[in-house]
Amino acid sequence: MLIVQKFGGSSVADAERIRRVAGIIAKTYQDGNDIVVVLSAQGDTTDDLIAKAELINKKASKREMDMLLSTGEQISVALCAMALEALGTPAVSLTGWQAGVQTTRQYGNSRIREINTERIYAELDRKRVVIVCGFQGSTTNGDITTLGRGGSDTSAVALAAKLKAGLCQIYTDVEGVYTADPRIVPAAHKLNEITYDEMLELASLGAKVLHNRSVEMARKYGVKLEVLSSFTKQPGTIVKERVKVEETKISGLAKDSNISRIALVGLRDEPGVAFRIFRMLAAKNINVDIILQSIGRENSKDISFTVAKSDYEIAVAALNEEKDEIGFQSLDVSTTLAKVSIVGAGMINSSGVASMMFEALYEAHVNIHMISTSEIKVSVLIDEVNADAAMNAIHKKFFRD
Ligand code: ADP
Ligand code: ASP
Ligand code: MG
Repeated sequence: MLIVQKFGGSSVADAERIRRVAGIIAKTYQDGNDIVVVLSAQGDTTDDLIAKAELINKKASKREMDMLLSTGEQISVALCAMALEALGTPAVSLTGWQAGVQTTRQYGNSRIREINTERIYAELDRKRVVIVCGFQGSTTNGDITTLGRGGSDTSAVALAAKLKAGLCQIYTDVEGVYTADPRIVPAAHKLNEITYDEMLELASLGAKVLHNRSVEMARKYGVKLEVLSSFTKQPGTIVKERVKVEETKISGLAKDSNISRIALVGLRDEPGVAFRIFRMLAAKNINVDIILQSIGRENSKDISFTVAKSDYEIAVAALNEEKDEIGFQSLDVSTTLAKVSIVGAGMINSSGVASMMFEALYEAHVNIHMISTSEIKVSVLIDEVNADAAMNAIHKKFFRD
């Protein structure tokens, strides 16, 4: 069987861990499988590289940032190939470019357009383990791009889809997908399986255990995904189309601190106001998440909405520039908030799920600033300082620890 195995940054953080990873790969190879390995940069390498760049130029171009950040993964693949060589397992390391990963031109946030698999198949035919740099690819011009933070998961799933792998294993530093981030909620427990839809919501709402685009792609191409630990031999979590119906109303919780709220106060209460605001933000490529509009009073209304923290400065500058055209009296920004969400397909057929969440927050004395719901999730915007306590309180309400 062809298997894609991805190992995250903490799994390859030092020599001993790389040797352990090489052991897992060698065992899979000896079992008679064809293997494509995808690696992330070691430990905090990507953060360290970003810090290095900031010492030189805080506004470095995205192209040069990608040139720099892609080096982290290159170190990992070379070291891992050496570790396999030492074990007597034939292996070859490839950059994203050498592996045929072609991307769009959006530096820092590119998407995989196509994978030219000729080289990979040639190496597999020679019975080598193929070790590919995650997170990176190249444009048709040969410029290096990266896929966005956490993007190695997406590299792995894209390769698994293209190569029609029987399984895509995402090895990380926890034993699978939990009901909540186990570092925040110690009582969280591992899920044996979860649907693509629920995993996609969790990943999009801040559970960084999987890059959300990797889940989207796995769903689209039906890639069987397994999330498991490279440190223990425990079975992980399978992400798939359908799972056995569980009794719990929700499958998990997620927290997102990369959020800020902008409130526009004293807008005219007339048609076209929201259109002007959000058209302008869309033109700047700023994604808006939760939107709340107050009831109009004396021909005036307020609109507040959330954007990623990394976007709020651009958003505020743009809004202020068009203050007269949009017609607001004042603008207020809050950057000390977090979004906490519950996710579960079971919500569709079960009433009272949102109220259980609100009850948990009330009991924990946590005030809610904004609420947003969809078929399979409820999100609340709260003060960031309360977020971890809120996560624990909500978890207790639904899972009774
Ligand atoms: P890697 O470097 O292997 O890609 P990440 O740090 O990107 O690892 O993702 C793993 C981390 O995701 C875990 O250490 C954990 O703190 C966090 N996490 C957040 N939500 C969850 C969840 N629901 N289940 C498991 N881990 C989660
Ligand atoms: N090294 C990259 C990052 O830290 C990609 C990844 O780990 O998936 O974001
Ligand atoms: Mg990751």
